Amino acid sequence: MPRLFTEAKKRLREAASHMSVDPDVMEKLKYPKETLSASLLVRMDDGSRRCFKAWRCRYDDTRGPTKGGIRFHTNVRLEEIMTLAFWMTFKCAVANLPFGGAKGGVAVNASKLSKSELERLSRAYVKAFHSFIGPDRDIPAPDMYTNSMVMGWMEDEYSAIVDHPSPAVITGKPLELGGSEGRTDATGRGGYLVIRHLEKDFEIEPDKTSIIIQGFGNAGYNFACLMHADGYKIVGISDSRLAIYDTEGMDPHSVHNYKMKNGTLSGAPSNGTLKEMTNQELLIEACDILIPAALENQITADNASKIQARIVCELANGPVTPAADKILCENGTIVIPDILANSGGVIVSYFEWVQNKAGYYWSLAEVHSKLKERIEPEARTIWKISLEKNVDMRTAAYIHALERLSKAVTAHGTKAYFSS
Ligand code: NAD
Repeated sequence: MPRLFTEAKKRLREAASHMSVDPDVMEKLKYPKETLSASLLVRMDDGSRRCFKAWRCRYDDTRGPTKGGIRFHTNVRLEEIMTLAFWMTFKCAVANLPFGGAKGGVAVNASKLSKSELERLSRAYVKAFHSFIGPDRDIPAPDMYTNSMVMGWMEDEYSAIVDHPSPAVITGKPLELGGSEGRTDATGRGGYLVIRHLEKDFEIEPDKTSIIIQGFGNAGYNFACLMHADGYKIVGISDSRLAIYDTEGMDPHSVHNYKMKNGTLSGAPSNGTLKEMTNQELLIEACDILIPAALENQITADNASKIQARIVCELANGPVTPAADKILCENGTIVIPDILANSGGVIVSYFEWVQNKAGYYWSLAEVHSKLKERIEPEARTIWKISLEKNVDMRTAAYIHALERLSKAVTAHGTKAYFSS
């Protein structure tokens, strides 16, 4: 597998080849601004102590304090965190937020920890990184296997260290602790708004369009519910252990309730005959829209030519490799890139931060309408750039973000300015 960070930067170079970018800009975006590693020593319930590797990376803060989630996953490693921070830099620029990009993570299988161990690990993370993060410096949020309760513990730990309540240090908190209305389903809702806004351009209609969802967590589940409510047919769903598929469709609420009760997707309710398969088999089943909503590197040169979907919408970060992108593009598949498709999460995180700073809170209806107002024009612009420059939507999104980043970097002066 090609190295993730090297692959990610190919996207930047591809975008730069379609525009005029000052060399200072490319130089500034070459490496992360700063990265901190730590070992978190946590007391386990049986009295023993275990050490977990942890990282936080601030990629670029030219446009404002850095922003990005914290991931708890066994395979987390520094290169992945750097790459995710790089993507966050471009995602925040796509959404025109006054933020740079960051990411954090702990190499841990969180499902093997007790609730108390998880709390101690979350607090240990903040103890190790408290001087790296901050409401005006670097603002974490949830990511895979971290949720609003983890954010609440982290905010509490940070507030204890700085000795005053500091809700704006982290987003994705519970509502009662300064969270925002609408944050829970924001990532799925963002993807939903992008697809619905570009429906005519994509030549799709809700009641004639089928969807497969890989990963049935926060992003995938909420997206499925919104699309299902508007008449789209959810034909495939998977989690880390199993995939289910039914051409007659499924109600994502019922499937979710079933999984909550039984701990598995096996035997979930559907409208016809349910087939069970592996995650990889599900990706190449028949559908109109494929939603990777789990991990990176799921659609690669090995399976891209077998993808039947006409549209791939990346709710996960980095699920399609550059080699797969090329194959999908040649086959006429539209890929809605992660930095647009899943930007709803960071947009509502921004709203949460603004509300925390102002101490003035918005209604759910306000959050929904502000998200729509912000994401739809960016989706439209990216679609327009892709048509005008005859490039895929990912390149168009990078061009759009790079233009904003370039303006910010060059506002500090360039070689041309200083030598004139
Ligand atoms: P989550 O922890 O809520 O859910 C993850 C889901 O993926 C679970 O259903 C899990 O069973 C499944 N999964 C794990 N490994 C898998 C595998 N190998 N194959 C198939 N499924 C697998 O996580 P989430 O918050 O929904 O995040 C999912 C993706 O969306 C990640 O790439 C994340 O970076 C991205 N994302 C999330 C947000 C957010 O606000 N939650 C925002 C932007 C991007």
